[in-house]
Amino acid sequence: MLPLTDTFQRKFYYLRLSITDVCNFRCTYCLPDGYQHNKDREAFLSVDEIARVAQAFGQLGTTKIRLTGGEPSMRRDFSDIIAAIHQQPEIKQIAMTTNGYRLAKEAAHWRAAGLSAVNVSLDSLDARQFHQITGQNKFTEVMAGIDASLEAGFPVVKINVVLMKHLTQQLPEFLAWIKHRPLQLRFIELMETGEGNDYFLQHHLSGEHLRRQLLEEGWQLVARLPDAGPAQIFSHPDYQGQIGLIMPYDKDFCDSCNRLRVSAIGQLHLCLFGEQGIDLRDLLHSDSQQQLLQARIQSSLTQKKQTHFLHQGMTGMARNLSYIGG
Ligand code: SAM
Ligand code: SF4
Repeated sequence: MLPLTDTFQRKFYYLRLSITDVCNFRCTYCLPDGYQHNKDREAFLSVDEIARVAQAFGQLGTTKIRLTGGEPSMRRDFSDIIAAIHQQPEIKQIAMTTNGYRLAKEAAHWRAAGLSAVNVSLDSLDARQFHQITGQNKFTEVMAGIDASLEAGFPVVKINVVLMKHLTQQLPEFLAWIKHRPLQLRFIELMETGEGNDYFLQHHLSGEHLRRQLLEEGWQLVARLPDAGPAQIFSHPDYQGQIGLIMPYDKDFCDSCNRLRVSAIGQLHLCLFGEQGIDLRDLLHSDSQQQLLQARIQSSLTQKKQTHFLHQGMTGMARNLSYIGG
């Protein structure tokens, strides 16, 4: 099966699937007031619906699915979700992005269910600052979760750090941390969202400065794989870990776009910062709808724009990234 391809000849091997909007953390750049329950919201996709999404994308050439949210591990059926996706032979990699609060207990179980990679968000190596940023006093648990993921044998454990002005002072500490640990430390430029305007202006730091610093200190750019995420990866002979830089404001960022998104209520989003999603849910009720589902996904791709409009301050429908998973 040919991979999904858009009008700009970009190929889509990678699906980011949000399975819940709910989160128990209150990260200052994402959900500073915490998750707001809405009794009228639509139910999140069931395990069967998720399996049908995975089957459709798998048959359209997707090889990697990332489970995200909200906090994906807030779903009680999280292991069943992994196992259902693992049944799809075309999906070679199942990754998750997590705040890490359940990792210490569950990493080995999730690995056994078929999870192949973990990204853990960790914005500070200082417990007090971690608490300030996330609203949760769970630094020790998250660090134990990272260790548990390495022990569980995940081939890749990545750490997501949102790049913000205060981080400059902590860079040496983060670098020392990965000197003897096989972690990939990914710095993600802070992105402006509908709800985070002032925050963005106050804290945004371009990754360009960090990129130059890394190159000066002997870090080298590593070649990119077809289903790799958006990060530029750097390695260094003296470090066991790697560094990833995600710079959505970089002028060529959208050229290498290889990913699509489906929200927790079954809307296909062609861009993290696009407008309205395309509803897939009416085609997720039964296996007999697979062909129609695949046809809708395929035809939707003609609407994918060449680039996002973040530079013009247009953040699309992303009120915050807990809605669509970052
Ligand atoms: N709750 C999980 C977590 O925090 O890892 C998964 C969802 S979270 C929305 C996914 C990633 O998006 C996290 O690594 C988070 O740090 C990042 N993120 C959230 N808001 C962001 C923003 N405004 N700019 C850049 N990254 C952001
Ligand atoms: Fe929750 Fe993740 Fe958003 Fe933090 S970044 S509030 S952990 S969804």
